[in-house]
Amino acid sequence: MSTILKEILAANEAYAKDFGDKGNLPMPPGRHFAIVTCIDARLDPAKFAGLREGDAHVFRNAGGRVTEDAIRSLVVSYKLLGTREWFVIHHTDCGMEYADSATINSLLAQSLKPAKLDEQGWHDTKDNSGTTDGEFINWLTIDDPIRSVCVDVKRLRSHPLVPGYIKIYGYLFDVKTGILNEVPEATKIGKEI
Ligand SMILES: [Zn+2]
Repeated sequence: MSTILKEILAANEAYAKDFGDKGNLPMPPGRHFAIVTCIDARLDPAKFAGLREGDAHVFRNAGGRVTEDAIRSLVVSYKLLGTREWFVIHHTDCGMEYADSATINSLLAQSLKPAKLDEQGWHDTKDNSGTTDGEFINWLTIDDPIRSVCVDVKRLRSHPLVPGYIKIYGYLFDVKTGILNEVPEATKIGKEI
């Protein structure tokens, strides 16, 4: 058994022992809101937004982008489970700012082993395990995180399945300070209509 697997199972055992009455929580999020954010390991929405089990929906992907699946999840979130306010939260120093789609595709074409980044840029092992299949994926890399928050809030606000009464906010999490900074242009785009 891997070390990580052992650690996770031990942590879960301790968690389940202390689970208490959380087994009685209803399915709909009690505080009626949802967060879309990045997978970055430095971001812990439960901590930076003060969540407890049962409070909110949290959707995460690379960059915290509003993809088709984010939209699918958010529509279910409001339509079936009653959320009324949504937060799109990108962050400083996001990994999605470090490579554009062409770079990711070229790295994948060289090798399926992890690439390394140094001052000279990305390097790969060129071990012939690569594939050009990455070209079929829209990597949704980020040039400017303020802009990406605005683009994603706009995508939600203008989607035909997203009703005007849903409040949508745009924020940028600062990985150096832990502060959530509003992106006012995005919140303006996301206001109720
Ligand atoms: Zn990120």
